[in-house]
Amino acid sequence: MKSCDTQAGLIDFEEALSRLVDDAQAVVEIETVPLFQAVGRVLAQSPVASVAVPPADNSSMDGYAVNTAALSQTEMTRLRISQRIPAGTPPQTLLENSCARIFTGAEIPEGADAVVMQENVSVDGDYAIFPAGVTVGENIRRKGQDIDKGKDVLACGIRLQPSDLGMLASVGLSEISVYRRLKVAILSTGDELVEPGLPLASGQIYNSNRYILTGLLHSLGMEVVDVGCVADTQASTLSALAQAADRADVILSTGGVSVGEEDHVKSCVEQLGQLNMWKMRIKPGKPVAYGRVGSTPFIGLPGNPTSTLITFCLLARPFLLGLQGAAYHAPLVLPVKSGFERQRAIQRQEYLRVRFEAGEVIPFTNQSSGVLASASWANGLAIVPPNTKVSKGDSIQFIPFSELLA
Ligand code: AMP
Ligand code: MG
Repeated sequence: MKSCDTQAGLIDFEEALSRLVDDAQAVVEIETVPLFQAVGRVLAQSPVASVAVPPADNSSMDGYAVNTAALSQTEMTRLRISQRIPAGTPPQTLLENSCARIFTGAEIPEGADAVVMQENVSVDGDYAIFPAGVTVGENIRRKGQDIDKGKDVLACGIRLQPSDLGMLASVGLSEISVYRRLKVAILSTGDELVEPGLPLASGQIYNSNRYILTGLLHSLGMEVVDVGCVADTQASTLSALAQAADRADVILSTGGVSVGEEDHVKSCVEQLGQLNMWKMRIKPGKPVAYGRVGSTPFIGLPGNPTSTLITFCLLARPFLLGLQGAAYHAPLVLPVKSGFERQRAIQRQEYLRVRFEAGEVIPFTNQSSGVLASASWANGLAIVPPNTKVSKGDSIQFIPFSELLA
């Protein structure tokens, strides 16, 4: 990790992100899991294909396999049907001057070089009549067209999607090497916090962040080590952080990371380890902190639930995925039309909760970081760079939540 950021002022978003991504090396061991349980896991070793996919040339149509040399190029040709090849049946070599009835997915017989779809063939008893102009290779899916034998099936570091599991299955693998699930400790700071299900006294609020983070981490296939709620004291914060460092690969906290005298997270991290970054030029989420507790990486997220969500998605998520062994992929950012106007420019980069609908983005009416309804309503974030005004019809960058929430 790099040394503490001593410069006055806020850290630009891109700088903060690139430092986090640079620091995020896989910290977890490799394990073998059955393919059925591998969705969402990060591939730790690239499997080599021991078979080609498909393993042999096969038909992409229901029709008739022929040798084009036996067909006239100018008039119709009549050939005897000498065999029938359903999918799953080994074919016989094609007899000269004959054709084979063949079905989709069935292996092409030796000696055939095209399949004519049944709609273009007329049948007369044991004979099939072919049109002129059949071309070599038509309706044949070539051996290895999907995966060549001996090649890597998938790249190491990818997060396995259902289509990837299909690829692995297609080369015959029933289990696969993945990184074990990253253990992420979460702790919620705040004397005002009460767990849902319990009565609420004056001055208290329910703990939302615990549920936001648990949901986000489970969506990433990570294991949550819930250290619970932490009182706003130096002693409780120190003890919770030390416990978290013992039990997990990485620590996430929410709240208590700002500048008030009830905010203990930053000073406790400095006591137990080191602080590498603090305060980002972003809105919401300015007080994000990054460092380590002992040797365990730590990210302190702000307390307002919308800030927790957004800073997790933008900064913690790529860092955690890196620790989990995943290769870094920037989220898809789409240029879209602004359906709103903002003449007041601010110095921080702003992430507005917006809906992209009917070709333009519209922001939620209340963009306060205390208003979580903005995030539930939105389908993504619009980025307003520092010191930038927005007019209706301007091109604005939009990140769909689908890019950030899993
Ligand atoms: P803090 O950064 O600790 O000053 O918190 C900022 C705001 O977020 C305060 O209004 C807190 O009450 C609120 N907050 C902090 N943690 C949570 C939480 N876990 N759930 C809901 N609100 C929270
Ligand atoms: Mg607090």
